[in-house]
Amino acid sequence: MATISEYERDAKNKPTSAAEIVTSGGTRIYLLPVETLPGHLNNIFLVDDPTYPVLFDVGTKRSSDELDARFEEIESRFGCTTKLKDLQEVVISHAHLDHYGDAHRMHDMGLPISIHELDARVLINFDERLAVASRDMAVFLRQSGMDEADLEVRMQLYKFEKSMFESLEPDRRLRHGDTIGPGWDVTHVPGHCPGMVMLTIDDVILTADHLLERITPAQHPQSITPFTGLENYLRSLKKIYAMSEGRLGLGAHGGPIPNMKRRIHETVTHHEVRLRQVFNACRAQPLTVAEIARELFGTLQNYGKVLGLTETGAHVEYLHALGFLHIENIDDVKDRIDAPVKYSADSRVRAPQFIRTER
Ligand SMILES: [Zn+2]
Ligand SMILES: [Zn+2]
Repeated sequence: MATISEYERDAKNKPTSAAEIVTSGGTRIYLLPVETLPGHLNNIFLVDDPTYPVLFDVGTKRSSDELDARFEEIESRFGCTTKLKDLQEVVISHAHLDHYGDAHRMHDMGLPISIHELDARVLINFDERLAVASRDMAVFLRQSGMDEADLEVRMQLYKFEKSMFESLEPDRRLRHGDTIGPGWDVTHVPGHCPGMVMLTIDDVILTADHLLERITPAQHPQSITPFTGLENYLRSLKKIYAMSEGRLGLGAHGGPIPNMKRRIHETVTHHEVRLRQVFNACRAQPLTVAEIARELFGTLQNYGKVLGLTETGAHVEYLHALGFLHIENIDDVKDRIDAPVKYSADSRVRAPQFIRTER
């Protein structure tokens, strides 16, 4: 069974120092926590195979120096002498900025960059994808009933992301079933992001953002980004259930996950409860996504508002797709793509079990 060294952690159990994990097959993995965005920690992993060392995620430009310091830390604490220049492959778990933002540095060092084929376009056509995603996000936010004044947040976000990255051609496009290095399996788990991948090394799974110790990964409606959405996410949780048995999960945020199956159950339950809240709110009266988000999360500020709406929107989309919600104001909506949509649930129907858990 995999063992993990002592490490420093904060009040929420997030690692704040490096840790060494040794798998059942004797492979050494180093967990390297770095601050990728203000107040936002990511775990980067060095899989230190003697002949094929691999980095899993790279962090952002902001965390470059900290990553270098972590390499020094694991040399002094654990005697790991592997350096960035020694890496045989750099795997990006998925195309979210906190995971790939510093990819240019690795690319400029001549290190091969790998990413799943469904996320490759984010790196290749960064400006195009950002522009289109921003437009589709604006449509979603208007459909959600967000105030026009608040839509400014989207533009701030757009400008921020644009300043953080320039297009880059990855060297390898990964698919489900590919292997890395000596035979580590790539598992494609779309949902939180279209091209999300996990990597299995003996009895350890690098779960990236798919499964996390304390939080549940943000959900996005498929209407904004294909291959995301709750339906895909839940299917991808089911996909990893059997392989999770007896394995240690290492997520990209927070601490290790010693019991992955239990964490999968907790994550599914979290979404079942949230679906129930959405359904019951819409039984009481017709509501927009923004109004439902207020019931779920209270008043949110700035980017939190967008995150609250996409999270709520993913649950509303799922219930609507399954026929549990219907559009109350269809006359307003039928000719206008960005009209605010009000959803209703049949008040005579009690909330059923939304997520089927049989395997
Ligand atoms: Zn992510
Ligand atoms: Zn993340």
